[in-house]
Amino acid sequence: MIERERASFIFDKIQESRHIGIFTHISPDGDALGSSFGLAGYLKECGKDFTIFIPSEIPDSLKFTVPATLKKNIVFYCVSNRGKVKDCDLLIGIDFNCLHRTGDWEVPFRESKAYKILIDHHQNPETESFDTIESETEISSASELAYNLLKMAPGIDGDVTRLSVTTREALLTGMTTDTNNFANSVYPSTLQMASELLAAGTDRDKIIRELYFSYPVRRIKAQGYILDKLLRITDFGVAYIFLDSRTQTRFGLKEGDTEGFVNIPLSLENVKMSIFAKRERGRRKIRISIRSKKGTSALECAGRYFHGGGHELASGGKLMIGEDVASEKEVGAYIEKYSRKFFMEKK
Ligand code: 5GP
Ligand code: MN
Repeated sequence: MIERERASFIFDKIQESRHIGIFTHISPDGDALGSSFGLAGYLKECGKDFTIFIPSEIPDSLKFTVPATLKKNIVFYCVSNRGKVKDCDLLIGIDFNCLHRTGDWEVPFRESKAYKILIDHHQNPETESFDTIESETEISSASELAYNLLKMAPGIDGDVTRLSVTTREALLTGMTTDTNNFANSVYPSTLQMASELLAAGTDRDKIIRELYFSYPVRRIKAQGYILDKLLRITDFGVAYIFLDSRTQTRFGLKEGDTEGFVNIPLSLENVKMSIFAKRERGRRKIRISIRSKKGTSALECAGRYFHGGGHELASGGKLMIGEDVASEKEVGAYIEKYSRKFFMEKK
């Protein structure tokens, strides 16, 4: 739980500042966007000046999360926008633990003399880069953390009906995606948040329709192909998929179209861990998503072999072509080798 004095301190900082910058992680997901827009919605209600700095494209599947009222506050990274960080006297990072997760915003963020606050739910926050850290790992999402904080905001005083519709919808969306629609990382506080937001009249049906009943046909077709042709299961109980660039082109896949695919193989009885690897378009990078069942640490595997991190049962990382693997063709063999090593070392 966030202590009342710490929350008051953060709201005093917000009150004192002239222009606030909100930062979240690269390849923003529902929680990164939901927590950022939830917080921004509150700043808007307070009449504050603020900018939301987003490091990379918002996938089509999550464009619905962008509130019309906040569009003009969003700045995407480009060289000519770097200077905008200097306008801020307070920077708030949300839903990431290390600054390199903010992509190209990392350097302007580090160089800024502004007061820096981190609000996050991942392990091992980069404490030295922030003046104040509100980090909690026993929580569903950054959106839930932001919700608990905003409940203590001046003028809200625990009455969530006083939060704007924008803020309530954004936070419920972020919590829903980070829990995979209440399948994991659900705490009593998570259900309490959902209950309070529903009681306040938040339109969860609309959010669920946007998130899970609005897929493009290419996603479902690719899903069928991937599960039929690309899924591999090792004798150590690791299911893995490597989505190469040719397959992405074949199905016309866009950023965000494969969101959630990593979870599917976990439904298999003997699978302990699922790894989804995907070539990033036009780059020498393979993005890695790892999910595990209780008793197996996705976090340790991501940290040891995939230059990554995240949470105990849901982590991510990367492999670089030319460094970790010579070419796309070797990705499957790399995953087999190191996931085997991971389970051998565990014994
Ligand atoms: P996803 O698989 O959904 O992309 O990420 C799962 C979790 O791992 C998220 O909480 C995300 O923040 C974290 N994560 C993803 N990629 C990386 C990475 O490259 N480095 C670190 N440290 N964490 C990551
Ligand atoms: Mn998150």
